[in-house]
Amino acid sequence: MLPTLFLSHGSPMTAVADSPAHTFMEGLGRRLGRPRAILVASAHWETERASLNAVDVNPTIHDFYGFPPALYALRYPAPGAPELAEQASDLLCAAGLASRVDRRRGLDHGAWVPLLLMYPQADIPVVEISIQSRLGPAHHFQLGRALAPLREQEVLVIGSGSFTHDLSRIDRTGVHGEAADVRDFAGWFDRALTKGRTCDLLTYRTQAPYAAENHPTEEHLLPLYVAMGAAGPGARAERLHSSVQYSVLRMDAYAFH
Ligand code: ZN
Repeated sequence: MLPTLFLSHGSPMTAVADSPAHTFMEGLGRRLGRPRAILVASAHWETERASLNAVDVNPTIHDFYGFPPALYALRYPAPGAPELAEQASDLLCAAGLASRVDRRRGLDHGAWVPLLLMYPQADIPVVEISIQSRLGPAHHFQLGRALAPLREQEVLVIGSGSFTHDLSRIDRTGVHGEAADVRDFAGWFDRALTKGRTCDLLTYRTQAPYAAENHPTEEHLLPLYVAMGAAGPGARAERLHSSVQYSVLRMDAYAFH
């Protein structure tokens, strides 16, 4: 059975610039094999209630500013999967979670940057699901848990965000190493994940060192809880990748299985 994944998508430049995370995601598709479809929860689609896109072909959304023209030329025209979007919406409803289907929305860079590297042919059907940034970890864990049956149907569930994400401290000089508080937070989070301390993870905001410093807003961490929940009860976390960009962006990736 496929694992579920949490991926750190980093800067949109991850799509084109060499980095350890770029190389990791390039190899990840081959390592996993080809799923029947992909459901991706992205930090870059925030709505009041869970939304799933249902389109024939996914438009590529270039939701970033001030990057080189080459990035705006990239397209990821993966087919949509309207039936999967409806099925996922029904699963959420059955779990008491309100949802809606969006018939226009395409894939933002949180979704297409990792997928472009993992499955460059863009021929696997993709549905994106939004996050509800004001509803916190437990809501997203429940959202994922409701979607867990999809894993048995060869649907690869991915949460795409960032393991740490304080954009105000990004250091492009490359002369400074990883910030100490980033290392402390990421170390705590990794131990909690790999030891399966679910309750600590759900209350990370008060438990983890420097939680608010590393996630001034939570939207880039919440997709992790979707992936964690979607793996089903008793799943274990395995760290697949760890690296840091700009001193403060941890690019860590996890599989739950
Ligand atoms: Zn992002």
